[in-house]
Amino acid sequence: MTKLIVGNWKLNPATLNEAVALASAVSVSVKSELYEQMVLLPPFVFLEELAKKFRQIQWGAQDFFWEDKGAYTGEISLGMLKDIGVGWVLVGHSERRRMFGETDETVNKKVLAALSQDFKVIVAVGELQRDDGEEVIISSFKKSISGIKLQAPSSKLQDLIVAYEPVWAISTNPGAVADDPARSNGIIGQLKLAAYEMFGDESKSIRFLYGGSVNAANAAGSLAQPNIDGALVGGASLNSDEFLRIINTTASVS
Ligand code: PEP
Repeated sequence: MTKLIVGNWKLNPATLNEAVALASAVSVSVKSELYEQMVLLPPFVFLEELAKKFRQIQWGAQDFFWEDKGAYTGEISLGMLKDIGVGWVLVGHSERRRMFGETDETVNKKVLAALSQDFKVIVAVGELQRDDGEEVIISSFKKSISGIKLQAPSSKLQDLIVAYEPVWAISTNPGAVADDPARSNGIIGQLKLAAYEMFGDESKSIRFLYGGSVNAANAAGSLAQPNIDGALVGGASLNSDEFLRIINTTASVS
């Protein structure tokens, strides 16, 4: 499986001009064969312009609402995203869970809606407290992805990507350091087992990423782990040189 690198820009940069400059710096330097291993998630309002200007880049939204239309002030639908050429969505990031009341139940509704509309869905799960045990992560994971129908001929699971992100490793949290790659490899192994119990052999097409303080210096250590199929990158995706070095790491570990 080739490695996937997702850049989550969060509430950055401040202006459309800066967003275009960042995308342009990535786009001029990324090797053409690596475009399909890279996804960028800018803020909603920049998406349309970026998707128009940089067609080779795979663009995604950091969130969305599961209904198609109606009285849902402030929300964005999957149809609107599709209309502007966006094919990827992130769901359940720990910042949305902690600060904006996202729950496993709402994450699950979003996962099912997005898969049914043929989006590629990155669902984030992980400890919200340092002492949350494996059971907490696995239970949240199972709830977040429950109810996915395995319909022949195409399994929806190839469109599902799971990002394991221990909240204490996310760079903006006080004292954050990247997780020990062997430890996250072990947790992802447990998540793969749980997915196998839910979906059998088809679960093998789900990709599992690690996220939390990934940078150019530590990416290879994490990407070389057998269970880790890629990285969800926050802070380091805002620096084009750093992000390109992470993308280039995939070539040496795939
Ligand atoms: C994230 O918040 O998804 C993330 C991984 O952030 P960082 O890389 O900055 O730790």
